[in-house]
Amino acid sequence: MAGSPKKQEVLALSVNNQNLTVRLTEHARARRLSLRVDPISGCVVLVKPKRASKKAAIAFAEDKAHWIADRLAEMVLPVPFADGTEVPILGEQHTIQHCPEARRGVWRENNYLNVSGATDHLSRRIHDWFKDEARRFITPIAHSYAEKLDRTVTNISIKDTRSRWGSCSLGGRLSFSWRLIMTPTAVTKYVIAHEVSHLCELNHSERFWNTVDQLIDDRRAQTQWLKEHGGDLHRYGLNEWKNNPNGLQSPSYALHGIQSTPQSGARQEPSDPVS
Ligand SMILES: [Zn+2]
Repeated sequence: MAGSPKKQEVLALSVNNQNLTVRLTEHARARRLSLRVDPISGCVVLVKPKRASKKAAIAFAEDKAHWIADRLAEMVLPVPFADGTEVPILGEQHTIQHCPEARRGVWRENNYLNVSGATDHLSRRIHDWFKDEARRFITPIAHSYAEKLDRTVTNISIKDTRSRWGSCSLGGRLSFSWRLIMTPTAVTKYVIAHEVSHLCELNHSERFWNTVDQLIDDRRAQTQWLKEHGGDLHRYGLNEWKNNPNGLQSPSYALHGIQSTPQSGARQEPSDPVS
């Protein structure tokens, strides 16, 4: 552990003709200069020991310009929920439309997601709407799949877990990422079928996959979709995460899950339980 930060300073550097914002942090116990790209904020963090000069730290960051550029290129840009933002709902693009005068909360109409009320509450309202919508979509399907397998779902939680799309715990408790409501319906159905099948098989054996195949068709196309596009979904409403302490909780309760972490270079990927 490097100890708690002593001093922070935001630097605007020009590296290879590109403007770069770097957060310089001094750690009393840091032994050397180091750089990392924060996977949540996309911020470049430069840590320097107390004894190193600011000049040396800047020179270090400039020297590592290619490394920084490569890491940033691997990252996804945040898409805050705001008026005019395009968001996928059940795989279809919708535009967020702020209707401050209306008194209807959040409602979907054609390819618009309309939001009434003050601008300050817009992001929170959209976030809540997505969670509610995910619950409305997932709950009846999960119960109907469980019924087909002669099992019972005791509880469904809708969360913003970063590392799993879904999970299944002993006792029939299922958990899903609200971001699934952005994917095409067949993808969400696959994740539901996957977790419900764990009520029969707490493993990824051939018997488990045969159970999944009883519930849905073409699961490979859906796992492929999640591999290709799943990480991208974590960009949406990114501002929420910074203010939402529940947004980054570790899914340690999960017995089995489908990995959902985007492939951003700085993170160590857990082994993919689906493949
Ligand atoms: Zn699983």
